[in-house]
Amino acid sequence: MSSLIVCHACDLVHRRDAILDRARVRCVRCRAELYRTNSASIDTAIAWAASALVLLLLSNAYPLVALQLNGSGEMYRNFFRFQGSMVIIILAMAGSVLVGNDFQFGSLPFYLSKPLSPWHYLAGKCLAVAAIVNLMTTLPALVLYFQYGVLTSWEYFIQDFRLLFGILGYGLELTVCLSLMLVATAGWLRRTVPMIMAWTTIFIFLRLLSVALVNGLKMSPRWRLMDLWNDTFLLGAYCLRVEPYKDWQPFQPTVGEAAVVLGVVCILCLTYLTLRIRAVEIVR
Ligand SMILES: [Zn+2]
Repeated sequence: MSSLIVCHACDLVHRRDAILDRARVRCVRCRAELYRTNSASIDTAIAWAASALVLLLLSNAYPLVALQLNGSGEMYRNFFRFQGSMVIIILAMAGSVLVGNDFQFGSLPFYLSKPLSPWHYLAGKCLAVAAIVNLMTTLPALVLYFQYGVLTSWEYFIQDFRLLFGILGYGLELTVCLSLMLVATAGWLRRTVPMIMAWTTIFIFLRLLSVALVNGLKMSPRWRLMDLWNDTFLLGAYCLRVEPYKDWQPFQPTVGEAAVVLGVVCILCLTYLTLRIRAVEIVR
């Protein structure tokens, strides 16, 4: 282990010292985290690996999600829906690390004091989130598309080339909405637990509330618009030119209304981020 360490945020050089177990070492100047120590790292790794193995066996014995591989738009719609829920869980947990730390530990003024505009900073953060979203949704969906075409017949690519645009459209919509929402909520809440609570509220509580209002109290289907995940789903199903789940959740608002709600949410997030970043004072 080298005895010197350079702060990744402000380039200050520190000497490494022997510190207590399970401690966090921060830069003396900018408070960015330099490294942490964890005496139980091997135990923790074994515990995670063992739990993962148990879950892997269970998930193979009792499949949570079954996807009918028939190459249709419905298949990609279901795929995006299930993968998308996984992405949301991962983003809720990773958001504070990806974005929140810069606000929390004051690294942001140092990034912005370098020749980097606030827009570059924002774009970089959104790109990191976009990479996660696309690696888990669009990319596997495209692989499925090409695999299905190659395994069945080449005519699939000619007949169903619209699906390709549908997949890209759904992926783009998820990328834009989720990355803006994640960067905005992480910039606001900064820490993991509040982030998870906020995303649970947005994606689970609002959904339950809208289901109760529309299905239970028979109110206007427009109340379902507050369920953002349903909105992305309506728009995605429209991109793939398939019906959303009419049998499962009847009484849906129109796609146009869902698109307007998502657009407004994105604009609000962008406005908040612009104000937030402008508020960072940089002394040059
Ligand atoms: Zn520093």
